[in-house]
Amino acid sequence: MQYSILAEAFENMESTRKRLELTQHLVELFEKTPQDVISKITYLLQGKLRPDFEGVELGVAEKLAMRAISKSSGIAIKKIEDEYNKGGDLGHAAAKILEQKTQTTFLVENITVERVYETLFKIARLEGSKSQDMKIKYISSLLNDANPLEATYILKILLGTLRLGVAENTVMDALAIAYSGNKENRKMLEHAYNVSSDLGKVAQIIATEGIKGIEEFKIELFNPIRPMLADRVKSENEVIEKMGNKFAIEYKLDGERVQIHIEGDKIELFSRSLEKISNYYPDIIEKIPKIFEAENAILEAEIVAINENTGDFLPFQELMHRRRKYKIEKAVKEYPITVNFFDVLYCNGKNCTELSYHERRKKLEKIVKENEFAKYIPMTIAETENEIEEFFENSINAGSEGLMLKMLDKPYQAGSRGSHWLKLKREYRNELGDSLDLVVIGGFFGKGRRTGSYGTLLLATYDENTDTFPSICKVGTGFTDESLDQLYQILNPKITIKKNPRINSEMEADVWFEPELVIEVVASEITLSPIHKTAINEIRKDAGLALRFPKFTGKIRVEKIVEDASTDEEVISLYKGQNKAAHDKNLM
Ligand code: AMP
Repeated sequence: MQYSILAEAFENMESTRKRLELTQHLVELFEKTPQDVISKITYLLQGKLRPDFEGVELGVAEKLAMRAISKSSGIAIKKIEDEYNKGGDLGHAAAKILEQKTQTTFLVENITVERVYETLFKIARLEGSKSQDMKIKYISSLLNDANPLEATYILKILLGTLRLGVAENTVMDALAIAYSGNKENRKMLEHAYNVSSDLGKVAQIIATEGIKGIEEFKIELFNPIRPMLADRVKSENEVIEKMGNKFAIEYKLDGERVQIHIEGDKIELFSRSLEKISNYYPDIIEKIPKIFEAENAILEAEIVAINENTGDFLPFQELMHRRRKYKIEKAVKEYPITVNFFDVLYCNGKNCTELSYHERRKKLEKIVKENEFAKYIPMTIAETENEIEEFFENSINAGSEGLMLKMLDKPYQAGSRGSHWLKLKREYRNELGDSLDLVVIGGFFGKGRRTGSYGTLLLATYDENTDTFPSICKVGTGFTDESLDQLYQILNPKITIKKNPRINSEMEADVWFEPELVIEVVASEITLSPIHKTAINEIRKDAGLALRFPKFTGKIRVEKIVEDASTDEEVISLYKGQNKAAHDKNLM
């Protein structure tokens, strides 16, 4: 398939934000796509080469791309930088430069989607000392044969700046229309996506086997399932209103969620954001097969750091010590853990997500045998507010964050947040002490502080409607020397020369980061703000919402993806809730 078809589709899609128009462009693109490239096109549309859980990262820096453009065009890097600094992005700057070049040379070859994809794949796989030079060679050879439009979109994919604004749901709408003639079939595709986390695979199946293939879509081991999420509630009373008269309550442990895929001796661990994390937990890989009594399974558990002497649970932050590439054996000894099981999604070749909570829990207790290292998450069945209250106290005393409440007769809804699972956290009981999960977008060098740290961070919420990150506050308190160090290590590689186009901030930062990290913050109040962009124009024209006296809680939420951060909607509802509480108080 000619790459120019894809580049033109990208250009059309970039020029609109309207979902219906985007869907139409996608349908037209899929209709021109041969069956054997459909999965590749689907990944490229999302700026990826493979599903996220495979961890194939392109990781090309702007500087390197500039060197490749220079090599291909014969134009000095300085000139390329100047063009780039005029505005736009490097993709468009390259197009301008190559336009000048194509006036003097003529194109020799048509490039295909297959060639671009394979080359990008090779680039992603390169490692080691010679890899920089090889990357430049591969990129410049593609650029040599590309016309300016094609070059723009090769570079955008390489740099990770392709922002078509096509949500997964829009891609699925278009796949349903293009291959089954009926948009309503989207629901079925969504289910297939939720149990595979692989949109390319879903596209491939509908393109080759039609909707029947999707109907028969099967969960596969070592292909992670998108996790079920919980709605939050603020009181025991609200639990009773939403759950009815009998439900399960579990401790909400403050650790890292893990999906464990196991078959014989083979075992793989996926994080909540579906990243492979097996390397960080060699102790789980070694110990779990011994307490497991089935042929194969997909299990869910919460990994929690413990105090080895007392057995007490320790906060999530302790697990950060396990996030390292080297000397992991030392970290395993110094930071012991337990694995606390709470669900089974697949067992002995059969899908378990359709079973009720009750049946799944019974199965879990059959196939996992408890010991010092592996436990079931503490659970009880409750009916009244008092029972919830009592279990809540116990859970907090044991070092957990609160409770998870689960309907007994409901299946596991992969990939969705809903009212079949609720969470009741300690902070939620105090209206203003609510914690927020915010995206780190910028940094400021602290005055008089040590070098090698950011004294203050600029934070953002996630706006689901526009797929952007509007700023909500600066935070400069709550940091310890250790957390400053950790943040510096994590954030430094994420620095960009230019602000990512998904960041919406009027405030200038000393450095901008790729929006990739979520941290937890508490604040005293939410106020209207002339500077910050969260919920802009929603409460009052030209005003956004901001946090007053924000404080970092110490929790770096590496397990969260940025699209999981607190949304503008959530902040609006907290703002309204807080004002209502103040109003009610005045009336008392
Ligand atoms: P939150 O991060 O506040 O949205 O809460 C959801 C997270 O709580 C999950 O992703 C799990 O990591 C964690 N969790 C702790 N205990 C449980 C439990 N019993 N059931 C499900 N998730 C739990």
